Amino acid sequence: MKIASSSETRLIELLHDLGIPAEAVLLSTEGKLVPETASVHKGQEVEIIYYKHVPPLSSPQEPRGHWKRAQYSKECAHCQSIPIIYLPYANQHHCPKHFNELFEKRVKRSIREYNMLSKGDRVGIALSGGKDSYALLHVLSIVRESLPFEISALTVDEGIPGYRDKAIENARKRCEELGVEQHVYTFKEEHGKTIAEIGKKGKENLCSYCGVLRRKILNTKARELGLTKVAIGHNLDDVAQTAMLNLIRNEPLRFARFNEPLIENEKFIPRIRPLRDIREKEVAAYAFLHGHEYNSGCCCPHATSALRWSVRHELNSLEDQYPGTKSKIASSFNTLQAIVKDSVKEKSLELNSCKECGEPCSDEVCMGCKMLSDL
Ligand code: SF4
Ligand code: ZN
Repeated sequence: MKIASSSETRLIELLHDLGIPAEAVLLSTEGKLVPETASVHKGQEVEIIYYKHVPPLSSPQEPRGHWKRAQYSKECAHCQSIPIIYLPYANQHHCPKHFNELFEKRVKRSIREYNMLSKGDRVGIALSGGKDSYALLHVLSIVRESLPFEISALTVDEGIPGYRDKAIENARKRCEELGVEQHVYTFKEEHGKTIAEIGKKGKENLCSYCGVLRRKILNTKARELGLTKVAIGHNLDDVAQTAMLNLIRNEPLRFARFNEPLIENEKFIPRIRPLRDIREKEVAAYAFLHGHEYNSGCCCPHATSALRWSVRHELNSLEDQYPGTKSKIASSFNTLQAIVKDSVKEKSLELNSCKECGEPCSDEVCMGCKMLSDL
């Protein structure tokens, strides 16, 4: 989507006039990323690269405190190069080189801090072809140079007409370029139905079916391939959203279950989230800098029907007004997670084997089998 200003103005003001949180979009001029602190002259076109379609706020807001104070800098915080991104929580502008370095350093730190990887691990990257998994593939291909582990990609095609095809094609090309083996699975072959077909019969929200059935394929296939970890592209926003959703849905036990590597079950392949400390916007910028193609059809057409969507939008608005909100929610989530885990009985964290398919689950029959038999 392109926007043009009718007068000389700062991009952040233009965005706020349109009711769009700066936190929710990437901006580019002439194909290059531009920080929202920069000014545009009258008539200059700016492209909004949506990494998620965010509905405009009903009432546009004035830029708040920190945005009023945030001054565009013509230089990166670490060198004299032109900056491409502004990090409001640090009040710093970064050029591509220093942004990439910061990004990769943070991913390595998270991997160490949460003990995600060990030498010799065989990691399957859940690669949908969206910006998060694209960024994850790229950054893990760099991290593996200093911490030897193997990577391959697991792509699941749910069968959403007109949505996944392009992303899967992009993912295929990128795997080829990086020399990463890619395995593609479809809902149709694995579950007998595409998600579109499931949607016609199911009573639940489509995303509930999609998430459960996708995770089931990932776990089964990772185990069959002899992988030791499944890496997923969840970023800081996803963690903050999950924390809020657990509260809204009154599902405190899920706090304890978030870090699946804590649960031992030989059939369960532990999941890791190397991007969990990085904001979605920065993940989007990193993917863009490494060739991810954004297109107007970036989002699944069903995405807006999920509660997560509204939570995402509210958190973006909050982050815009109070930078650091998301990381504070994520930190609270980590603290609560440890407390809940210590206070619940070990028994409730244990996993059984599904009576139907043998996959690990907390009940007698796994959610995937229940869902498929209810259709
Ligand atoms: Fe599946 Fe929902 Fe995501 Fe679409 S938005 S891919 S239906 S989980
Ligand atoms: Zn099952």
